[in-house]
Amino acid sequence: MQHREHIIALGKALVAEEQAGCADRSLPGGLAAYLKQWLAAAGEDGTHPYVSMALAQLKDYAQLPIEKRKKRIEVAIETLRNIFKPQPAPPQAVEPSKVAVATSEPAAASRTTISSSVVARPPLVEPPISPYAELKDVPGMQRKDLLAFKRLKLHTVEDLLYHFPHRYEDYSSHKHIADLIVGSNETVIGTVEETRLVEKTPLRVEITLGDETGIIKAVFFNQRWLMWDLSVGDQIVLSGKVSVYGGVRQMTSPAWERYRPEPDALIHTGRLVPVHRLTKGLIDRNARKMIKYLVDVSVPHLEDHLPEAQRKAAKVLPLGQAISQVHFPNTIQEIEAARTRLGFDEFLFIQLGVMQRKLLWQGELGYAMPHVPAVHAELLEHLPFALTGAQTRALEEIFADMARPVPMARLLQGDVGSGKTVVAAASLLQVIANGFQGALMAPTEILAEQHYKGLKRLLSRVRVPRQPRPEVEGADWRTRLSSEEAAQLAEIKALLGMSVEDDMDGAGVRVALLTGSLGAKERRRVLEGIAKGEVDLIVGTHALITEHVQYHSLGLAVVDEQHRFGVEQRQRLRDKGFNPHLLVMTATPIPRTLTMTIYGDLDVSILDELPPGRQTIRTRWISKTDRDKAYRHMRKEIEKGRQAFVICPLVEESDKIDLPSAEEMHERLQSEVFPDLRVGLVHGKMLPREKDEVMVAFRERAFDILVATAVIEVGIDIPNASTILIEGAERFGLSQLHQFRGRVGRGEHQSYCILIPHKENETGNKRLDALTETSDGFRLAEIDLELRGPGEFFGTRQSGTPDLKIAQLTDVGLLKTASNVARAILDEDPELALPQHARLKQKIEIFWAEARSVG
Ligand code: ADP
Ligand code: MG
Repeated sequence: MQHREHIIALGKALVAEEQAGCADRSLPGGLAAYLKQWLAAAGEDGTHPYVSMALAQLKDYAQLPIEKRKKRIEVAIETLRNIFKPQPAPPQAVEPSKVAVATSEPAAASRTTISSSVVARPPLVEPPISPYAELKDVPGMQRKDLLAFKRLKLHTVEDLLYHFPHRYEDYSSHKHIADLIVGSNETVIGTVEETRLVEKTPLRVEITLGDETGIIKAVFFNQRWLMWDLSVGDQIVLSGKVSVYGGVRQMTSPAWERYRPEPDALIHTGRLVPVHRLTKGLIDRNARKMIKYLVDVSVPHLEDHLPEAQRKAAKVLPLGQAISQVHFPNTIQEIEAARTRLGFDEFLFIQLGVMQRKLLWQGELGYAMPHVPAVHAELLEHLPFALTGAQTRALEEIFADMARPVPMARLLQGDVGSGKTVVAAASLLQVIANGFQGALMAPTEILAEQHYKGLKRLLSRVRVPRQPRPEVEGADWRTRLSSEEAAQLAEIKALLGMSVEDDMDGAGVRVALLTGSLGAKERRRVLEGIAKGEVDLIVGTHALITEHVQYHSLGLAVVDEQHRFGVEQRQRLRDKGFNPHLLVMTATPIPRTLTMTIYGDLDVSILDELPPGRQTIRTRWISKTDRDKAYRHMRKEIEKGRQAFVICPLVEESDKIDLPSAEEMHERLQSEVFPDLRVGLVHGKMLPREKDEVMVAFRERAFDILVATAVIEVGIDIPNASTILIEGAERFGLSQLHQFRGRVGRGEHQSYCILIPHKENETGNKRLDALTETSDGFRLAEIDLELRGPGEFFGTRQSGTPDLKIAQLTDVGLLKTASNVARAILDEDPELALPQHARLKQKIEIFWAEARSVG
């Protein structure tokens, strides 16, 4: 029961040393010698967290320059003072009888005993630390560790609490020394029988540890201080791999700590030991000790953002328990339960975020655009085919959305070739028939141009009623044109390449293309036409929303081939001030779970039916050694007048990765394999303009073979290409391979897809088999998700999609639970304005801010 006395004595010694100018002479043998003696005598006091922190400050004191010593001493004294600072009242009073027991039982009880009037001395309890405090304000935090935490972007106690272990060492069961199995990882508890310093390089400290069944040696390198730390008679725990050396069992550099009998007192040994991600300068022991300390003192003050009722409904652990358990679990099951709660939170934040955004997007009024059947009927007449059932269903959903005065937010998912363009065209036409403008955005200029041509051909022949919109005064704007304006209009039409026939003198849909290749003057004209409402449909790249394009009355924005059209872009679109309807189209088949997380704010229409008579693309994978056969096939096809793609995973040759590069392949095909044919090259390191030029040249048959990297992925239409050969096929995701395959079979010719893996293995081959067996993009996406996991699903991360630390995207059950809870919360409190949701609201904001900053 000497707590105070020991610590006061230590404090006095430090003050004396400070007053003597930190010369390390105030104590016989120097401070280090004093501390060693003090530790030996202090017993339980020596393990008090504040004491440990103070002592950590004083490590290598003799070697420090005076200035540093002064600082360290000062911090150490301050740290010790914390122990005596008045504590807030404990949660419940302890009955005197219990206190009496506690006073006679020092160690464990002193943490929970209280009332100085009974014990008549300041209590030795952990001062509470707010989970929301800055790490730099944590007493005893060392500068070096602080910097290391900072490098990990951990600034607050809460950040550290959320710095989860990425794995655990299982040291949970300890054995007697005689029962240790050589070669396996084991834990023993024993008494130090000998400590020995071996002054060689590297310097060694050898500890002999014994229990009633035998001895084991522990060897540590370059840790001279262990000689002070450990004395004969100390009880310690070792965890590590057992070997035998000269007939004696040995552990080399094991984890170790002082044995403490209280449950959950061990941090580094004898349990499931957490392993946290570290940076240079941060020692796992220090990190673990700090995390343990902060978990102990701050988690009780951690507020659970999830209201109790919802938590019960979701059947997940309280937050504090989950956090404590994920860091310092007692069993594997505890880890699981903790991870379930923490993963649930991630899903919940995502779901609340996207649902709220949807409410917000649709909370403001948009324009209701009642269906105009006559115009739709006319479009159908002009189509050379009948719509598929899936197209009709999708259009019904879209028309219903747009007829409501709420901005539509819909995703149209459909495999390559499922006919999304005509769905877009029909939707845009309705908007135009209602007197609004439409915009169609493509990811590249060449795709924009492709769409422009196709849509113009189709839509300019459709007569749209030119009703003035209610808020536009007067009759048809054309009657109000001055002669100057009329001349200007003629000029714009000429610029847009419209002849009198094809816009039917303004009665048909007026389509304009806005790309980066327009000259400054033309560009200004087109922009003016858009601003004045003289253009009905604008086709272009993302510049249509990112740049300062002013719309006269934007009613619908269609975004094509963009699974990367993120939250930010959507917001920007909205900021154009018209609350337009939004239709996002993607050919990347996305499994249901991913849709819910990534596009949770979008309603989904699916084109799950290909137009009739679509040929299947013959797909086959072959070994590298059979490459010549593939080349013979290509030559035969080219002789028939066809063209071919060759896809490579890399742009240029790399020393690090042994994979076919597009540049090498181009070189080899042109000079060795097909010297008589024309081989082109396109890759991602080229400028967009250059890429487009090559693609246009290929479409115009200036090349027979086009060697390309993944840039070819998006919906480029080259009907004459009949073969696609994919090198290093195992490097691509199944969905991506499926996209590549969709580059051929777009015309009337039988088409082929040949896959050549660079390295073969079982999973890889299974994936390639799947591709040869099915042409269902959704099925392939699911297989991919199962075989490769979500991280690689997209290849690159989604813009504005949050990073999941814990949750598994494949965990549909948990996602659904989170989704239900999110809905229940928003039903009750759509803006999360209730006080019980304040913390939740804050958490979501932080979560999404992080997502945006990395996206
Ligand atoms: P994607 O969904 O990949 O964008 P597209 O819209 O480019 O597909 O359509 C692919 C091809 O199928 C185009 O040539 C288009 O004219 C044609 N197509 C679309 N719908 C039908 C249909 N219902 N019947 C027959 N052909 C169709
Ligand atoms: Mg398309």
